[in-house]
Amino acid sequence: MCAERGERLTGPRRLVLKALASSHKPVGAYEIMDMLAGGKGRPAPVTVYRALEFLMKQGLVHRIESRNAYLACAHNHDSDAIVAFLMCDSCGSVGEASTAAIAPFLAGIAKKAGFRHTVSVIEINGTCSHCRRG
Ligand SMILES: [Zn+2]
Ligand SMILES: [Zn+2]
Repeated sequence: MCAERGERLTGPRRLVLKALASSHKPVGAYEIMDMLAGGKGRPAPVTVYRALEFLMKQGLVHRIESRNAYLACAHNHDSDAIVAFLMCDSCGSVGEASTAAIAPFLAGIAKKAGFRHTVSVIEINGTCSHCRRG
């Protein structure tokens, strides 16, 4: 379903998603512009930001607030799903962890408070399995 949605993308949206998907680390908006720079020059910031905005609404891209960067989503979840990121302090990689076990619990807490969450991101800092081995 993710791929289907991705295929319907055109122009800058598709290019921005491709650039993000090719990186295992979160990428800042200006890095994306550098990655997309080619024969036609660098895309305008507004073009990239608009594409990011759209991709985030579709749930195809996540914003990592603490790093002011973006990450392509490899999972096929709802755009308002609760998402957990495992962020490595030594290599900078970010993995998306499944929240299937805790999401209903967290959603229940919000509901109890009469709160309707729109974006829920849990950032977990530490050392990834690759770095721990090295
Ligand atoms: Zn995701
Ligand atoms: Zn690491």
